[in-house]
Amino acid sequence: MTSTSIAVIGAGFSGTLLSLHLLRRCPDNTRVVLIERNSQFGRGQAYSTGNPSHLLNVPAGRMSAFHDRPMHFVEWLRTQPPSEFPSGPPNAQSFVPRRVYGAYIRSLLGAEIRRAPRRTLELIRGEVLQIERQSVTLRLVLDRGRVVEVGRAVLAIGNFPPEPMKVADPSFYDSIFYRPDPWAAETLTGLDAASPVVLIGTGLTMVDMVISLLDQGHRGPIHAVSRRGLLPRPHAAGPQMLPEETHEFPIRVNDLLRFLRQEASAAKSRGTSWQAIVDELRPFTQDVWQTMPLDDRKRFLRHLRPWWEVHRHRMPCPVAQRIEAARASGQLHIHAGRISAYEIRDSIARVILRPKGSNRDETIEAARVIACSGPNADYSRISHPLVRSLLAQGVVRPDPLRLGLDVTPNCALLNREGAISRRLFAVGPVTKSAFWEMTAVPDIRRQCEFLAQHLASLTKPPPQPEPTHEPKPGVNYAI
Ligand SMILES: Cc1cc2nc3c(=O)[nH]c(=O)nc-3n(C[C@H](O)[C@H](O)[C@H](O)COP(=O)(O)OP(=O)(O)OC[C@H]3O[C@@H](n4cnc5c(N)ncnc54)[C@H](O)[C@@H]3O)c2cc1C
Repeated sequence: MTSTSIAVIGAGFSGTLLSLHLLRRCPDNTRVVLIERNSQFGRGQAYSTGNPSHLLNVPAGRMSAFHDRPMHFVEWLRTQPPSEFPSGPPNAQSFVPRRVYGAYIRSLLGAEIRRAPRRTLELIRGEVLQIERQSVTLRLVLDRGRVVEVGRAVLAIGNFPPEPMKVADPSFYDSIFYRPDPWAAETLTGLDAASPVVLIGTGLTMVDMVISLLDQGHRGPIHAVSRRGLLPRPHAAGPQMLPEETHEFPIRVNDLLRFLRQEASAAKSRGTSWQAIVDELRPFTQDVWQTMPLDDRKRFLRHLRPWWEVHRHRMPCPVAQRIEAARASGQLHIHAGRISAYEIRDSIARVILRPKGSNRDETIEAARVIACSGPNADYSRISHPLVRSLLAQGVVRPDPLRLGLDVTPNCALLNREGAISRRLFAVGPVTKSAFWEMTAVPDIRRQCEFLAQHLASLTKPPPQPEPTHEPKPGVNYAI
């Protein structure tokens, strides 16, 4: 029985969706064990926020959990109480609250629990601390000494908090002024509404934090700092005319940059936005990444990554308007520069900044400094007990570009020597090194389908005269 059981570790978007696809594709005797350390299954980090102003940064029409049913999420939204949508009934172009998306994923899981026989889907609340390899199985050791034995396991452990910058006096990071995890519940509690705040990072996490501060009536100055001071660009307003599909996508990084610039300027002259050009690249991004020479990938990460991020991962228009208004009013300041030190003097923190292009330091005072610099993907530095244990055993290894763990295109994890695991797999942001864009729902949902199909093909069907691999009758995802 253990040989036909699959543990999915982490029940954020990736782990939950993968479990649903496994139940649909695997033989009837497969047991899927979904394990989550937090109280809520299905939300993960992105969709746990209770703040209704934290909107999805992708329009509802592109957020279906199922690639082959693009309007599934929009149809589900139409069944929800109107009180969730004060600005009117949602449609495919709407940017709805992220907490609503969490409710959607949870509703899919709930529907599956009601349908699937108890023996096929098991939910366990707990943290996996270790994975021990037995001769033919994996032994998962959880907190409180619990043990689960399975045939295969998939890491769906998602994103990790930003890594603190190296500064001369690291004791600052232990002080009351610093908050290392922007998603932790206490990040903004107990803050005087008139006090100055410094946010480290100017990407979408910083945007979330500014929106939270404004929502809780913060009046004091907000400073956001990054090396280049680049802000995520807004989505184009309204539906866009699709550009013509003309040329091949180049794979050398300079050629690709030139190509995208040319396409964007041609699009502009045809009345289409640059956003449409970036979106057209989307289905090919993983191909381009996997075909690009390693040196070019390194150059991309060194020089172009911040530019890619702000054009690719954009702000919903209503959020962009609030950010713009906060800048125009003088409350939000975006700084480009390098932080050289933190000091604590007279009961206030001081952030010492060398602005870009300047040879003189500036000092910004802050009652709170919050790390918003994006997830830490360098697994050699992550203090996650399971990751630490797997690295120490040598059954996984960080990828050379420090984007996640090293995996094959079929999501199998590589061990310290580069051998391919037949039992341990990964899904979601953990696999960024092999796919690059494995952040947003449209990419992860495809990966979940492919991986479920692959794992189903590895799973032995029950001993019956005519085994079937067809989807189970009666299992569908209608709400
Ligand atoms: C703030 C934010 C906003 C986003 N907004 C959007 C958006 O609007 N649109 C979009 O397309 N994408 C968005 N994304 C990107 C994307 O949707 C998420 O990154 C995606 O949800 C990743 O899901 P995940 O399940 O892989 O990771 P996570 O959501 O991080 O979930 C991982 C889960 O694993 C659990 N876990 C970890 N370790 C263990 C363990 N050892 N044992 C048991 N459980 C464990 C964690 O508790 C967590 O619940 C956003 C991402 C973030 C961070």
